[in-house]
Amino acid sequence: MTSNKICFIGAGNMSRSIISGLVTSGYPADCIEATNPSTPKLDALKADFAINTSSDNAAAAARADVIILSVKPQLMQQVCEALASLDLSHKLIITIAAGIPAARYQDYFGQAIQLIRVMPNTPMQLGAGMSGLYAPANISDEQKAIAEAIVKTGGDAVWVDDEDGLNLVIALAGSSPAYFFLFVEGMINAGISMGMEADKARTLAQQAALGAARMLIENPELTAEQLRQNVTSKGGTTHEAVETFKRGDLHGLTAKAMANCIARAQEMA
Ligand code: NAP
Repeated sequence: MTSNKICFIGAGNMSRSIISGLVTSGYPADCIEATNPSTPKLDALKADFAINTSSDNAAAAARADVIILSVKPQLMQQVCEALASLDLSHKLIITIAAGIPAARYQDYFGQAIQLIRVMPNTPMQLGAGMSGLYAPANISDEQKAIAEAIVKTGGDAVWVDDEDGLNLVIALAGSSPAYFFLFVEGMINAGISMGMEADKARTLAQQAALGAARMLIENPELTAEQLRQNVTSKGGTTHEAVETFKRGDLHGLTAKAMANCIARAQEMA
């Protein structure tokens, strides 16, 4: 990746995750700048990653080749409008905000822009993230490669051809770490209520989750269904548990949860 000057507008959790991935992968820290209204997060980023920091969004954005918009969606309009007087014609803008369609940023900035939408997730902070990217038709292959290289320092990424596909990315990867936490939380609580010490219940459940994820990733020729069937002998203990989940329509409930997640993303647009 060539060392474009990258500016993060908003120095919160997701910016920190992406910056961590960039610096860890060898991206020059002096080519990265982050802005935030308050200083504690900036001080921490400077101390941990030796990047540049500023509380002046416009000055930092003016210095950058790539601007990454990383504030909450409800603040996005005012943040973009405050940058509208800059000449953005040669800059690539990346937004990680959920919900806001690409076309709306054009209105916020009041000028033609080159913008890519990215939907990351929090495991990016460990280099185990999963992001979806969407680029409107005016984005070049070179710009796409820049955005993809940035997000892939924090994990894997897929492009969606249609902007609505980003909402499906949210349901499948952006929000889904919480589904797994919820499931593991239920396992731990049940284990404790059945007599296991809390720390051992957690170790058992989380290691099983890690092992299952690795078996999926390392056996791409097998479907999730085949992997499940391989460890489910008829009449055995796993079969008993799996049949209980099926009677409770776990798959139906999962589909409903994802549909509601997508509906919420559409409402936020
Ligand atoms: P966050 O931790 O709250 O970070 C947002 C940061 O923006 C805060 O540090 C905030 O500073 C700062 N900020 C507020 N006003 C600003 C301004 N005028 N100029 C510059 N910075 C300003 O939120 P986050 O979780 O990183 O989320 C950031 C974006 O990522 C959101 O749009 C969200 O939709 C998207 N996203 C998040 C996730 C996720 O899992 N977290 C996943 C996908 C996408 P103060 O705290 O000092 O006010």
